[in-house]
Amino acid sequence: MRYHLITLGCPKNQVDSQGMEMLLQGASYTPTDDPDQADVLIVNTCGFLEAAQEESIGVLQELARRKRRGQILVAAGCLAQRNGDRILAQVPQVDGLLGTRRWMEIVALIRRIRAEGPRGRRLQRYALLGDPEQPFQAPVPRPPVVAGSAYLKIADGCNAPCTFCSIPSFKGRLRSRPLEAVVEEALNLVRGGARELVIVAQDTTDYGRDWGEPDSLPRLLQAICHRTDDRLRWVRLMYAYPGHVSDTLIQVMAQEEKIVPYLDMPLQHADPRVLRRMRRPSRLERVYDHIEKLRAAMPDLALRTTFIVGFPGETEAEFQRLLAFLQEVEFDKVGAFTFSPEPGTPAATLPDPVPEEVKAERYARLMEVQQAISLRRNQAQVGRVLEVLVEGEGTIQGSGEPLLLGRSYRDAPEIDGLVLVPGGTGVAPGEMVPVHIQGAMEYDLVGCLLQPQTFTSRGDGIRLEPASVHQSQ
Ligand code: SF4
Repeated sequence: MRYHLITLGCPKNQVDSQGMEMLLQGASYTPTDDPDQADVLIVNTCGFLEAAQEESIGVLQELARRKRRGQILVAAGCLAQRNGDRILAQVPQVDGLLGTRRWMEIVALIRRIRAEGPRGRRLQRYALLGDPEQPFQAPVPRPPVVAGSAYLKIADGCNAPCTFCSIPSFKGRLRSRPLEAVVEEALNLVRGGARELVIVAQDTTDYGRDWGEPDSLPRLLQAICHRTDDRLRWVRLMYAYPGHVSDTLIQVMAQEEKIVPYLDMPLQHADPRVLRRMRRPSRLERVYDHIEKLRAAMPDLALRTTFIVGFPGETEAEFQRLLAFLQEVEFDKVGAFTFSPEPGTPAATLPDPVPEEVKAERYARLMEVQQAISLRRNQAQVGRVLEVLVEGEGTIQGSGEPLLLGRSYRDAPEIDGLVLVPGGTGVAPGEMVPVHIQGAMEYDLVGCLLQPQTFTSRGDGIRLEPASVHQSQ
């Protein structure tokens, strides 16, 4: 039996997909890239924004159009959880729905559909949808490690009241995975070749609140760092909520060698009035305080954030406040989105929508400001030696010269930039190599390989004189 699995949406969805793949392969299913060859077609959908929902429906419709007799089509993930009726109305060929906390039942679902046969499939759909309030007890099949990196999901759901976000309405309140289960999975991933663990959840910094210990993330991070061996080099923290970055967390991040000096802390805006309309923390002095403490504790910190432009009622003055904040704080990486109203959220009914052309224009202005900052921050890396986790090889357009592609501690997988090593070759994905940084662009760095012994520690690169640099063969 062969399956074809398409994953849409965020890294958290990828973690669930990896779990499904492990279970499918454990049940003797083999993956195929060709949907026509598959017995089972699975789409792990995204239900976050309307555009993502449309994309999910579009992918399902495309598979349904080519679906042959006997093939099974399953819609899993956020949209299946949130709006399974919409899927069934728009893609009636779907045989089964699988909610976000039920992905571990993929094999059982397929068996049930197969047991019913074509007639049964016509008569009913299987909706294994999760109860948003049930404890998050994902089992721990060992997900594959891709190029030495693996996501580690520590919780699901969210307690925050952000007015633009629908996630809590269908994922429910935050449910933390038991600490021991997370550590066990971390150990498995490291045994499976992970050099980097990327810690994800809707709000990683709220870990433990549901069992009455709201600041449990530092304890979890320490347990991961202490109980894994030296094969694990990087622990990377994503999705920190500004009000939840505690002094203990900063201290543990700075102390633990394996935790990279990198933090993704989505702020969404920087004008207090807009933040209040978003029902996000609006006391900017707390944000400044966090950033000051983080940078004092980790001078090499790479700081990433996300902003929404064009939130309802956003005036030019409020947007200017955001631009000024951007220039003042100088984040290393910024992701930006134009606001899109999510049906069922409070923000969808707010007055004074910002016209689409104004949103687009503000987005372009924000990115223009940030690109100059990102370039400056990247140029400050020139001369450093950074440990780079190799992701693969490519070629330089035009010349065809080989190119090694990897990431330093400053880059999260899939969302940040790369370190490019022209002429580099012969290093397997998942290996870590020292690279002398010699050039910088807005997103990427360029460097050359060094002898492995030149490197000293995690990501806190040393600076080299040109004479000590050896071009790789
Ligand atoms: S913190 Fe993130 S996931 Fe939670 S409600 Fe706000 S935007 Fe949504």
